[in-house]
Amino acid sequence: MKTLPVLTHPTPSLRERSVEVDPKSIGTPEFQAFLEALTETMFVEDGIGIASPQVGRNIRVFIVNHGGIGTAYINPLITKTSDATVIGEEGCLSVPGVWGMVERAKKVTVEALDRHARKVKLECKGLEAVIFQHELDHLDGILFIDKVKEFTKGKDKLKV
Ligand SMILES: [Zn+2]
Repeated sequence: MKTLPVLTHPTPSLRERSVEVDPKSIGTPEFQAFLEALTETMFVEDGIGIASPQVGRNIRVFIVNHGGIGTAYINPLITKTSDATVIGEEGCLSVPGVWGMVERAKKVTVEALDRHARKVKLECKGLEAVIFQHELDHLDGILFIDKVKEFTKGKDKLKV
């Protein structure tokens, strides 16, 4: 199956705000093929999530790896965030070899369209909540290194 090259920091397009997807385009073969390729890229690169701008397409789409199943979220919004936070170690396919501690909301409510353009709403916590916040940041041009409290690995590899 087709995979896509992953862009790495400091590629300028990773810093752009991605645009909304026209829901009418979701059902097209081109868009469905793109979702499949993005999902396959995530699995091949061994990611737990991947956002569309990471493969050079600045649209509001990401895939989350739910225990081996890749689920697409289109035009996602975080509609509720807990005050409680957690600090955990994060890395990113677009910042290879670099890891650091990031503070995130403990629980989030996400609303999005799925690959069939149906509305979905889910409450997540733990690692899943972290993935959603990390991937949503990509759609706004934000990388985890912007939020790191402390680097745990590869700080010397970080290109600015
Ligand atoms: Zn990332």
